[in-house]
Amino acid sequence: TRTPVNVTVTGAAGQIGYALLFRIASGQLLGADVPVRLRLLEIPQAVKAAEGTAMELDDCAFPLLSGIDITDDAKTAFDGVNVALLVGARPRTKGMERGDLLEANGGIFKPQGEAINAGAADDVRVLVVGNPANTNALIAQRHAPDVPAERFTAMTRLDHNRALSQLAKKLGVSITDIKKMTIWGNHSATQYPDLFHAEVNGRVAAEAVDDQAWLENDFIPTVAKRGAAIIEARGASSAASAANAAIDHVYDWVNGTAEGDWVSMAVPSDGSYGVPEGLISSFPVTVEDGKYSIVQGLEIDEFSRGRIDASVAELVEERDAVQALGLI
Ligand code: NDP
Repeated sequence: TRTPVNVTVTGAAGQIGYALLFRIASGQLLGADVPVRLRLLEIPQAVKAAEGTAMELDDCAFPLLSGIDITDDAKTAFDGVNVALLVGARPRTKGMERGDLLEANGGIFKPQGEAINAGAADDVRVLVVGNPANTNALIAQRHAPDVPAERFTAMTRLDHNRALSQLAKKLGVSITDIKKMTIWGNHSATQYPDLFHAEVNGRVAAEAVDDQAWLENDFIPTVAKRGAAIIEARGASSAASAANAAIDHVYDWVNGTAEGDWVSMAVPSDGSYGVPEGLISSFPVTVEDGKYSIVQGLEIDEFSRGRIDASVAELVEERDAVQALGLI
């Protein structure tokens, strides 16, 4: 029998946590033959709720679930962690300034980075879901100097999946007809879903659409504002699709991307495409043997350049703000 993989989920008692944990325990995160041990990290007042979720996980009798630990201590939660899903974050509340938001999240992601640095397994992979995800990932990464920087990533896979779905609807094709979708930049309203490199049955998606007005005024804002539209419609946030995207992100990072396709991940920039080195920005990536690489050599036209630069400028601002606050 294989040794279980230690998977730590923060904010485990939240909405996304509730949609995520059952899928991890059923084998969808890593593979149908990989046993997992779950570590749930919560703030003290939510530990009881996490215990309730753990009771339900027990009651599913998942064959691959070899154990569940629940804690409010980051050091304990990340000791020996192989896959860290950082979901819990401080949401923006009414009247909150951006500085306050970044400061509150610094108070969460700095100690979590330190705990990962202190105790994580050598092969640790970190995915930050909690917003502002890219900058939270940057904070954690900067406090884990002994962990290779590239192990810290943030989630833009939900945006990627939303873009696939919108494009498939527009063209009346199926998801599997579309390859090479890319989200560039920040997981925020400035993100850039790129149809100039995506392909629909081998044809450039922007050409297949042949409608720049739709692309600019419909497609891009629909993808970027989808989260708000879902809150408006269902009266609650897009927790299940966010959990699904987290599963997709980690599954592909571990098991690889398909030949002739790529996925979007926010990863530390190596300077590719003019994105300042070290910023955690979304790129097209392929994964082989458990390691991702940023797709190189794509030609970026003027329209795409402007969109990418605008989103990257926002990431620079966020980085400078957390730097000014002494969080990195
Ligand atoms: P959710 O589980 O709905 O969301 C968690 C985080 O994911 C938020 O930062 C949210 O950002 C973000 N997110 C990213 N993508 C999406 C998406 N598509 N849809 C919705 N959210 C998205 O929040 P809950 O409030 O239900 O739960 C949070 C839990 O985290 C609570 O149980 C809390 O106790 C816990 N927590 C734990 C911490 C810890 O373990 N140390 C620290 C802080 C909180 P956004 O705010 O922008 O929606």
